[in-house]
Amino acid sequence: MNNHVTVLEIDAHALEHNLNYFKKKLRPETKILAVVKAFGYGSDGVKVATFLQDKVAYFAVAYTHEGVALRNAGIKTPILVLHPQIPNLREIVDYRLEPNLYNFKIFNAFLKLADDIPLINYPIHIKFNTGLNRLGFWHTDIPKIISELKKCTHVKVQSLFSHLAASEDLEEQEFTVKQLNNFAHIAKQFYTYLDYEPMLHILNTSGVVNFAKAQFDMVRIGIGLYGFGNDDQETAQLKNTHNLKSIISQIHFIEPGETVGYNRAFVAKSPTKSATIPVGHADGISRKLGNKKGYVLINNQKAKIIGNVCMDMIMVDVTKIDCHEGDEVLIFNSQKAIKHIAHISETIVYETLTAISQRVKKVLKY
Ligand SMILES: *Cc1c(COP(=O)(O)O)cnc(C)c1O
Repeated sequence: MNNHVTVLEIDAHALEHNLNYFKKKLRPETKILAVVKAFGYGSDGVKVATFLQDKVAYFAVAYTHEGVALRNAGIKTPILVLHPQIPNLREIVDYRLEPNLYNFKIFNAFLKLADDIPLINYPIHIKFNTGLNRLGFWHTDIPKIISELKKCTHVKVQSLFSHLAASEDLEEQEFTVKQLNNFAHIAKQFYTYLDYEPMLHILNTSGVVNFAKAQFDMVRIGIGLYGFGNDDQETAQLKNTHNLKSIISQIHFIEPGETVGYNRAFVAKSPTKSATIPVGHADGISRKLGNKKGYVLINNQKAKIIGNVCMDMIMVDVTKIDCHEGDEVLIFNSQKAIKHIAHISETIVYETLTAISQRVKKVLKY
């Protein structure tokens, strides 16, 4: 049991609100796949999936073991593994996970496994590269894929999908439209060869926001579920899901000329009251937030981080704040605060959220 006093509270109402926000942008029959990879974007994938299991059609994880964790928690919803590896294929089958097959090496390995076991109509997903150049078959691979599939009754193509390279960026709209058209063309070609029609999906969160017409049969929502849209206006309509809290471990009164933390990075110019908080870079607090770049909230007031961020702790300036050892500390509890942290950490919200480490205790709050 993790009993760390630094806790990430995952707001269940916010998750549901955000899910419904995206549902309203879609046709009623469009399925929603909730992306819960990377521990549910730094929260707790099992807790998030347990809460969402009867509200979405599908889950996606990046790697096999993330899907195994969901199955071990009793999740029965279909789970797409976005980036399976050949050594994991047997485990994929054992846990009834659904692999994304993105090149002939893994495609042939899976068809062989399906043949050997043998499986019947096992759901697989085939990914096409339409311009991201990360994972996926080329459209020119279609005839060979089809000819292999026609020889095999052990698998059934559950979906064809692709991923956009710049769905959030309207300056790249022309490129995105090209990707969407390529995908539609691939699907059409595929459909003419098969006697059934696999589902189609290409949109992530910002794809839904900017290109909802291309929703096809399903959309894959990640960051939007966790409260972030394409711009501040949209983000304001979503609710924050990640609330990181801690407490004050100790308060020190520091005389002028004394220093705080490693490398003596903070030097007190005047009498200073500092508070030590049990959260550090090993919990996901970037060292870039040290030396007064970042702050936490104590009794509704901003307390700047002084000195360097340590592995397990930060020290903050509470000279002007009425506070005591044991008082609650909010490291962040709004999208605005998370965006600010991402900004001063010179990164994006995705990285700030997923940086929250496994050491932090995770609680789903209703
Ligand atoms: C992570 C991921 C998503 C989710 O993207 P968001 O921008 O977080 O909505 C969707 N599809 C694929 C293939 C992904 O890797």
